[in-house]
Amino acid sequence: MRVLVTGGAGFIGSHTCLALLEKGYEIIVIDSYINSHKRSLKRVVEIFTRNNIVKHIDIEVGDIRDEKVLDKLFLRYKDLGNPIKAVIHFAGRKSVKESVLNPLLYWDINVNGSITLLRVMDKYNCRTIVFSSSATIYGVSNCLPLKENAKIKPINPYGRTKVAIEQILSDTFHSHTNKWKIANLRYFNPIGAHSSGMIGESPIGIPNNIFPYITQVAAGVLDELKIFGKDWPTSDGTCIRDYIHVMDLAEGHIATLEYLNNFEKKIVNLNLGRGLGTSVLELVDTFEKVNNVKISTNFSNRRIGDCCTLIADNCLALSCLNWSPKRDLVKMCLDGWKWQLLNPDGYQ
Ligand code: NAD
Ligand code: UDP
Repeated sequence: MRVLVTGGAGFIGSHTCLALLEKGYEIIVIDSYINSHKRSLKRVVEIFTRNNIVKHIDIEVGDIRDEKVLDKLFLRYKDLGNPIKAVIHFAGRKSVKESVLNPLLYWDINVNGSITLLRVMDKYNCRTIVFSSSATIYGVSNCLPLKENAKIKPINPYGRTKVAIEQILSDTFHSHTNKWKIANLRYFNPIGAHSSGMIGESPIGIPNNIFPYITQVAAGVLDELKIFGKDWPTSDGTCIRDYIHVMDLAEGHIATLEYLNNFEKKIVNLNLGRGLGTSVLELVDTFEKVNNVKISTNFSNRRIGDCCTLIADNCLALSCLNWSPKRDLVKMCLDGWKWQLLNPDGYQ
């Protein structure tokens, strides 16, 4: 089956492309490389070539807001008699901080980009989409772990764009209920890297997220990790997140495509997390122990807009998809460190 992966050169996208190829999917990536490097997909192909397996990805460098580019792409594969059957939609901006500073950019790329994509998909009768949503849409909640029907109350522009896209997808589904198959995957905190150490997270500039920050402190690229707050109402006073290995997340997308295939029409929201909480201090401690490294830390003020605890109730995903996360926190820390050691400058 031919699948279009928007934003496939990025962190989660590249790992998902690898998982798709492993499962025999034919894939096309569209990416503007605004937050990624072309080397990531070259590495994906290299992983197979090392085992003498020929695998190929078609790559289109372009912006999903450019309707002409998308139209041409869908037309090309239709004319080849091998049309695009489904889309995994990663392309978008993801920094909370940047979204507060530049909300119009976020609404334009994330929301307008998604509308353009849906319009072209509809034109070419491609009506299966797996969308990268986020746990950030839940905002601050007292009901933990978070079920999919928990209150949706995002506290920043990034989260609001994700909610808007989910709503647009819902309206689209209900306008032609006999047509669309839609999954909103609400990711918790993907970290780690592929076990080869050949692909991983390669942030441009100083990382905003904790895990690449930790690996760069361990490698001596950054001096120390600032822990945002020590007075949160948790057992050690630091925030709790539900970390999931990026390869488990990647495999969750394939399970979702296979799940949607069972239906004539379907819309579903699924939390992809492990259902386990880890505090910042626990994450740092595990990373230090399993990799035998030292992470210098310092406490600083709480980060504006931070939530205390985000943990997934993943029961729905476990019951719907033939999938469960297999890799634990130790594996995430080992694989993430391997990636950092082999690629001190990421893909640069
Ligand atoms: P990423 O930035 O590494 O990947 C996104 C990719 O999209 C990049 O390769 C970027 O160049 C591309 N892109 C951005 N705008 C584009 C445009 N207009 N046209 C074409 N390509 C464009 O991010 P990621 O961590 O891989 O996240 C993928 C998706 O998952 C994003 O939508 C993000 O919001 C969502 N998500 C990520 C996390 C996380 O912690 N990483 C958590 C929840 C949700
Ligand atoms: N965090 C931290 N220092 C950093 C980056 C993050 O203490 O330099 C904390 C942050 O407060 C949060 C957790 O690590 O509690 C995860 O943050 P991240 O930005 O990776 O994910 P998100 O907050 O989006 O879930």
